Amino acid sequence: MSELKRQSEITMLETARHFFDVAAERLKLEAPLRTLLRYPKRKLIVVFPIAMDDGSVQHFEGYRVQHHPILGPTKGGIRYHPDVSLEEVEALAILMTWKCAVAQLPFGGAKGGVKCNPLELSVGEIERITRRYAAEIAPIIGPEIDIPAPDVFTGEREMAWIVDTISMHHNSTFMPGLVTGKPKVLGGSEGRDAATGRGGYFVLQETLKQLNMKLEGARVAVQGFGNVGSSIARFCVEGGAKLIGVSDARGGIYNPKGLDPIAVKEHERRTGSVARCKETETITNQELLELECDILVPAAIEDQITKSNASKIRAKVILELANGPTTLEADRVLYDRGMVVIPDILANSGGVTVSYFEWVQDRAFYFWSADRVDRRLRRFMVSAFQRVWEMAQRERVDLRTAAYIVAVDRVARAARARGLYA
Ligand code: NAD
Repeated sequence: MSELKRQSEITMLETARHFFDVAAERLKLEAPLRTLLRYPKRKLIVVFPIAMDDGSVQHFEGYRVQHHPILGPTKGGIRYHPDVSLEEVEALAILMTWKCAVAQLPFGGAKGGVKCNPLELSVGEIERITRRYAAEIAPIIGPEIDIPAPDVFTGEREMAWIVDTISMHHNSTFMPGLVTGKPKVLGGSEGRDAATGRGGYFVLQETLKQLNMKLEGARVAVQGFGNVGSSIARFCVEGGAKLIGVSDARGGIYNPKGLDPIAVKEHERRTGSVARCKETETITNQELLELECDILVPAAIEDQITKSNASKIRAKVILELANGPTTLEADRVLYDRGMVVIPDILANSGGVTVSYFEWVQDRAFYFWSADRVDRRLRRFMVSAFQRVWEMAQRERVDLRTAAYIVAVDRVARAARARGLYA
């Protein structure tokens, strides 16, 4: 996020705290619980040296924030990015707590990150950073303590290195429940790759039913064409929708007659971007967000719908698959304009739900078929949606406020039941 933006708009951390405060107020949460849940339980900063390929030694800074282990061990991804900061990791850890609670998973929220630019590092350097970072955070990681997963610029390769490194530190042959998002050969789950897009699709179907809207023929625009963006695009087209625009970090494409997500993915694999895919018009990311469409899916990074473009958004439904894509100011504008925003903590919880399935399978050393994962994911997503939708109707609030009320209420009830260890 640019410095300019930080000064002019409320940050993701402030936004997460704002919605917590709104929910706490509605639930009349007692003051000690408000203080407990407003701040993370544990924030770890690590600085470590890495031998670089050119013979030099560079120091890297990493973080792991655990918001609250009230419902169970904490859970959340590890991101590698030059802009990673303690504040960003803290905000994402808090979002994870509420996301797990909405989905009724037995987890609290956590997040981790290393400030680095993987695009400028060799595979060997990334492996050394990953293993050393894993060793540094190992004292607070474990299958019953805190379970990492992939996030931006990390994937199953890094998860395999982490599980290997920490298992060695524990003098164990292999601790599969330590991280999720692992390769299948190391206990990864069927269906994890497309889980976030698939879960988002289930929630979208339920929302459209409530709004009396049809997916068949609906115009869909998707920002971000990575793991999440390309899967939701594919599921929507398979469901009969018309994909009219997609974009990535390098630009966007538009075709009112409809794009084929498989052909676009193929083009992106070959060229490194969706830009300039044949039979499309070139558009900017800003233009993509402002396309006249029925469903807009931000599936890239945070803070994309802001106070400067919220009044220009022309979608009926916004499915937030990215974390924190809408700023607080923009959220108010969208609400006042009557748009239905399916909030991140509900919309993208399919990823952590299948991570939960992976952890369950690893602990039982018994693995499920892709069909079973899919059926169970649908069940979890539909019931999470129903809880949030019913709360929104009952309290006459938007879906984001409703999702926070559902989540904060669940964590607060668990905290009260556990009592105070003073
Ligand atoms: P990814 O790295 O696979 O893809 C990210 C996509 O966003 C890429 O196409 C990239 O080019 C594009 N992008 C990056 N910066 C952009 C910009 N400024 N403008 C437009 N496009 C840009 O990541 P992903 O796993 O698909 O995650 C996408 C979002 O979904 C992130 O916010 C992530 O935190 C969130 N999320 C992911 C999962 C998951 O299971 N992968 C789960 C929950 C939430």
